[in-house]
Amino acid sequence: MVERLLCRVPMWYRMLIPGARWRIPAITGRSIYLTFDDGPIPEVTPWVLDQLDELGIKATFFCVADNVRRYPELFAEIQRRGHQVGNHTYHHIQGLFHSTKSYMKDVHAAHELIHSRYFRPPHGHLRLSQNLELSHSFELIMWDVVTRDYNPKLSPETILGYVKRYARNGSIIVFHDSLKAEKNMRQAMPEAVRWLQSEGYHFLRIGDAP
Ligand SMILES: [Zn+2]
Repeated sequence: MVERLLCRVPMWYRMLIPGARWRIPAITGRSIYLTFDDGPIPEVTPWVLDQLDELGIKATFFCVADNVRRYPELFAEIQRRGHQVGNHTYHHIQGLFHSTKSYMKDVHAAHELIHSRYFRPPHGHLRLSQNLELSHSFELIMWDVVTRDYNPKLSPETILGYVKRYARNGSIIVFHDSLKAEKNMRQAMPEAVRWLQSEGYHFLRIGDAP
């Protein structure tokens, strides 16, 4: 039950990160923003890119800059295929465990490699002072539906069920191109996309006109 409740972000939690975007509803029709966190890595990201081509959709990748440094050709490939990229810090650090100064240093170092105005905080946690600093240079992009694909206790069917239950117009859905999430994501993501397409949703990148 707790798992179920956590899949949609409660309002009190949203208020902890003022100015962030949790959902971007389309004015006409129904849109979805598919996002992938924590890559790029050679074991998973190329597979995701091929799947997205096959499904005929574009997505947004919130990249860890340390991975971008190690696999620059993969990062370039994400953009070459027409996807959006965002900053997910250099070392995937948790805001509450870092001073604002050291957090921003990590974020700006990541910006040197990623060059995106979109930022998503790892683990979804930020101090208010970090939020304020970030808002000067970045647009904060959170999420509306967390799949928890990285949780080994969940099955792909359960994750697909979350998407079916919670996705709505403008939902920002999070999957992970990571080793931890790989098993669930590989099965649940394409099925979730096909189901959403059959329900009439169209897929946009963060930054596309809603
Ligand atoms: Zn992350």
